[in-house]
Amino acid sequence: MESNEILRVNGISKRYGDISVFEHLDLSVKKGEVVVIVGPSGCGKSTFLRCLNGLEEIQEGEVLLDGERISQNPKELSRTREKIGMVFQSYDLFPHLTILQNLTLAPVKVKKRNKKDVEKEAEELLERVGLLSKKDRYPRELSGGQKQRVAIVRALIMHPEVLLLDEITAALDPEMVKEVLDVVLSLAKEGRTMVIVTHEMQVARAAANRMIFIDGGKIVEEGEPTEFFEHPQTERLRQFLHSFSYEAE
Ligand code: ADP
Ligand code: MG
Repeated sequence: MESNEILRVNGISKRYGDISVFEHLDLSVKKGEVVVIVGPSGCGKSTFLRCLNGLEEIQEGEVLLDGERISQNPKELSRTREKIGMVFQSYDLFPHLTILQNLTLAPVKVKKRNKKDVEKEAEELLERVGLLSKKDRYPRELSGGQKQRVAIVRALIMHPEVLLLDEITAALDPEMVKEVLDVVLSLAKEGRTMVIVTHEMQVARAAANRMIFIDGGKIVEEGEPTEFFEHPQTERLRQFLHSFSYEAE
């Protein structure tokens, strides 16, 4: 194992009954690396991410974080999810709690951290994403883009070693996409380890150290972003990129 490898996926397979979503997928992510996964709708991207932090049972293979196998034992899952944070398309903030309360809940309750310290950190993170003025507001008073930035902060405040982002801009109005993607780009720049699923090819290209194309339950192509976008090796990736008006010359 390479010394700076943080996440390793060894031959995982996911099936729902007789239906296979993917078979024998492998992945290795180094500390500070940003891996972006793209692929057609329904190819298993969300399921794959959910397998990485134990939200889905896997039928074969294993996932290792820092060389330690992620257990499927429910008792250990909350620990796993602290280490591997995830942000989804739907932000699912608690409607009856203020933004600050939404952010401090898990660190105080789950991690037993000091409330004042956590509030201070939440305020610093909110400032970073341009939302400090909203800390005492309720989720319904925020736009979708603002709520999604809060959801990113909620993941960051748990100090995850790896952050998984699953199409976090897919449900947003176009004018709100940029404010969320800018946060993602800044996290990539500061060296956060992330596995990102997105349909935003511009951002994929800007943020990714490595691109992965999944189709038909397999990794069809994988590579450094410039090569991936400009010289796709397979017809399937060429067609996929073409559908985003990304064409190899
Ligand atoms: P993507 O995120 O790439 O669009 P998903 O991971 O959501 O794809 O889904 C992959 C496949 O798994 C789809 O064909 C979907 O219908 C199937 N699937 C997802 N969740 C379930 C489930 N709970 N039961 C049965 N099939 C499922
Ligand atoms: Mg999905």
